[in-house]
Amino acid sequence: DSSVRNLRVAILSSPGMGHLIPVVVLANRLAAHHNVRVTVLQVTTAVSPPESKLLDLPLHKDLVQIIQLPPVDISHLVGPSTQVVTQLCLMVREAVPVVRSAIAAMESRPDALFVDHFGTDALPIAAELNIAKYVYVPTTAWFTALTVYCPVLDQEIEGEYVDQLEDLRIPGCKPVRPEDVVDPMLDRNDQQYDEYVRMGKQIPLSDGILFNSWEDLESKTIQALRENQALRSVVNIPVYPVGPLRRPVEPAGPTSEWISWLDRQPNESVLFVSFGSGGMLSAEQITELAWGLELSCQRFIWVVRPPTRGRVDDAFFNVGNSSDGTPNYLPEGFSTRTRDVGLLVSMWAPQIEILSHSAVGGFLSHCGWNSTLESITNGVPMIAWPLYAEQRLNATFLVEEAGVAVRPRELPTKQVVGREEIERLVRSIIEHKEGQGMRDKAKQLKMSAEDGLGRAGSSYKSMCEILSKIG
Ligand code: UDP
Repeated sequence: DSSVRNLRVAILSSPGMGHLIPVVVLANRLAAHHNVRVTVLQVTTAVSPPESKLLDLPLHKDLVQIIQLPPVDISHLVGPSTQVVTQLCLMVREAVPVVRSAIAAMESRPDALFVDHFGTDALPIAAELNIAKYVYVPTTAWFTALTVYCPVLDQEIEGEYVDQLEDLRIPGCKPVRPEDVVDPMLDRNDQQYDEYVRMGKQIPLSDGILFNSWEDLESKTIQALRENQALRSVVNIPVYPVGPLRRPVEPAGPTSEWISWLDRQPNESVLFVSFGSGGMLSAEQITELAWGLELSCQRFIWVVRPPTRGRVDDAFFNVGNSSDGTPNYLPEGFSTRTRDVGLLVSMWAPQIEILSHSAVGGFLSHCGWNSTLESITNGVPMIAWPLYAEQRLNATFLVEEAGVAVRPRELPTKQVVGREEIERLVRSIIEHKEGQGMRDKAKQLKMSAEDGLGRAGSSYKSMCEILSKIG
């Protein structure tokens, strides 16, 4: 690594903890394993209470620095119906001048600018400075392929994607079921669709794409991105799987009530139920989930949140408990009836530590990519319960390609999943042979992930290759 010892990279993170964290994890990896000096430039915005828990992320001291850019104001550009992708892209666009100034103010010019996929509007800054430019997509190769190919689908397909009768074909890749498209593709008349198509056109203007996956996990898609002629005609740059990159385990401490509860449970017997940093369910769905867990007679830890009413922050208010401690949005007496098998955690739990506990045998998850990686890298199979963003895509991948998940017959975003169906899924993953097969598969992936990140591994080498080009 001596040849890359003095490299310096600036990484632009789009607004929100969900985007800052993968960037910081990438920064730490570059610093700790490749001796790169990294300046993270964060486009700033308000941080919601549950997300801010994720901020306690240790930084690689000496080499990684986070600079919060002056906040940008997009209030004159948005209305009440402006979607999240639009807002993210607008914020980055408005921040371009302050990004430029922040880079100019660095004590020495960086050797490269990395942006996440919402930050492609900042790529011209790298061209101005004549430095290398890379896009980091903190999720899968499959999502990356869909994104860069969407401008072609935009030309070829008439009408809404969700109304198509046939799967959407991406050359060399697994086709995408119309109902699985990413949120910005749900409504072609919304501005966030235009932003998404633009993103798909701008990503290939960089010098290369990094994504948070690894060769063994997505070999077919990665090969297509590298070799398929039709796909290469839209994305003719190198692609680098550099993952799985994830937050380190933060010990919850010996006093953690949840960990000591897990210590008392049999090996691989507990289902962990959680929907990411912001995922929430309808009141009706929460009721069915509670009954489904109860009927399954399996052990569980459930991170509970009040039903959706609007903003995530609303969840912090107006929560009452009935006399046995059951939150008032769960079936009456639920806590009493499940006392011996279940544990309810309000709002937030130390997920990585829970998933790495030997008592955990399954994860009912919204399939956010971080949660997915945290599950796979602990050898834990999943019940795929996608809610938003690219999670339907992730769920299909986990069930049909990776073979580490089961899912409800109907998409949870389409209709309420009933209690019997939930009971069936929970039993299949914890109790039945099917679950053991998926657990074995997840354990294999855990090992291949570790191999990929090791010194002789493909993800490690991918990073070395990028750095040798920059240096
Ligand atoms: N997380 C956690 N405790 C919780 C809920 C979430 O630690 O109760 C963490 C989880 O470990 C993961 C992140 O929050 O690292 C969620 O990221 P993901 O990509 O899965 O979903 P998102 O929140 O972006 O939808």
